[in-house]
Amino acid sequence: LTSSPASPGLYVVHIAAEMAPVAKVGGLGDVVTGLSKALQKKGHLVEIILPKYDCMQYNRVRDLRALDVTVESYFDGKLFQNKVWVGTVEGLPVYFIEPHHPNKFFWRGQYYGEHDDFKRFSFFSRAALELLLQAGKKPDIIHCHDWQTAFVAPLYWDLYAPKGLNSARICFTCHNFEYQGTASATELASCGLDVPQLNRPDRMQDNSAHDRVNPVKGAIVFSNIVTTVSPTYAQEVRTAEGGRGLHSTLNFHSKKFMGILNGIDTDAWNPTTDIFLKVQYSANELQGKAENKAAMRRHLGLLSADDQQPLVGCITRLVPQKGVHLIRHAIYRTLEMGGQFVLLGSSPVAHIQVNLYCCFVYAKANDGKEDLINKREFEGIANQFQNHEHIRLILKYDESLSHYIYAASDMFIIPSIFEPCGLTQMIAMRYGSVPIARKTGGLNDSVFDVDDDTIPHQFRNGFTFTTPDEQ
Ligand code: ADP
Repeated sequence: LTSSPASPGLYVVHIAAEMAPVAKVGGLGDVVTGLSKALQKKGHLVEIILPKYDCMQYNRVRDLRALDVTVESYFDGKLFQNKVWVGTVEGLPVYFIEPHHPNKFFWRGQYYGEHDDFKRFSFFSRAALELLLQAGKKPDIIHCHDWQTAFVAPLYWDLYAPKGLNSARICFTCHNFEYQGTASATELASCGLDVPQLNRPDRMQDNSAHDRVNPVKGAIVFSNIVTTVSPTYAQEVRTAEGGRGLHSTLNFHSKKFMGILNGIDTDAWNPTTDIFLKVQYSANELQGKAENKAAMRRHLGLLSADDQQPLVGCITRLVPQKGVHLIRHAIYRTLEMGGQFVLLGSSPVAHIQVNLYCCFVYAKANDGKEDLINKREFEGIANQFQNHEHIRLILKYDESLSHYIYAASDMFIIPSIFEPCGLTQMIAMRYGSVPIARKTGGLNDSVFDVDDDTIPHQFRNGFTFTTPDEQ
């Protein structure tokens, strides 16, 4: 295994399910890479451990090679070999774990949304710790993220610290409390954790179902420090309404829990160097932004007669959290007001792109009536506007188009019902597109209304609203 060179700073290992740009579904991927680069710049030694997914962007990994030794890890009463690959992503050393398990855990053509996600990621969490133990690594901090690698915290203290992997303290960051990965308590045994010991109210037992375990709760209990991605969201999740069942656990452990606002990777998101743009530009030279707008209108077949006509952008996963009914309303309202609208919308798991057509998403409208919105409806709106002069809906994940839209748009909407941090408002600002955001979570910590007298003038940077209704 590769050795870890001595470094004057701390030695930090991230164990995560996503890392931009090789394996990204949403903001988690951006943050794992952005935070690691920032720590590396400060002189810390940072390594990342990821699953080796079949669907990764392999062309974004440099010098990928398999190590000679394999790592053996326990699962379901047996030992399995894991092939370990190393490579460099954005200048960061990354280990990719390829389990030789008959279920081909990371050979599914998608990152999440498989029936055995709990098994896949509890397997990965254990294999990652096994890699650190067998390689004789002595990290100062093991940083795990979201429910997929939350298993690391109890595994470390219950099994790996006693085996001698004990140099580290555990940091757990929850990027979204909506996703907790709960499962039947018996499933925890697969990765070697002790079910009777952990399925207790003060440990991993889910707060609302006593025969189920909750990996996020386990990580809150077992980590040395727990963070989430903005100060406002950290307050919201301490309430019964916002905590998704975990508010009492967070309040009990409040001394070690805090919110730290995410940032963006200003090298990856930089309009002066961005290779995905038609023309690079800067805040001092905005002509390039206008050229991107004109070029994108041509690219998408939108009318480009009037270069003063505003272009509104939205780039998002299409899930209820993001305020889909408000996004839909904004499309029609923009048209009514004489603007243009471009939506780039993806589903978090590939098959939902198809299956969500029949799966309803409920969003409560202001008058209390259930407002039924589904992906098919967006598909319908996309078709309705297929050749429209002013509206375009592109329903897929597309990294290069996302850069182009940030650059081309004049305004950008983020009407989230809740938002742990949100990165798209920050990226939009970096590209000179004015954010229009709902005042919730991290949006409340990063977008400040132009008319808000409580905020010093120089910090006002967008438009905000509170009530999540169409008005
Ligand atoms: P979340 O993590 O909840 O999806 P964030 O705002 O934290 O939301 O991060 C979203 C990230 O994913 C941003 O980098 C955004 O540009 C990107 N993204 C979202 N949807 C798409 C899409 N359809 N195509 C390309 N990139 C997308």
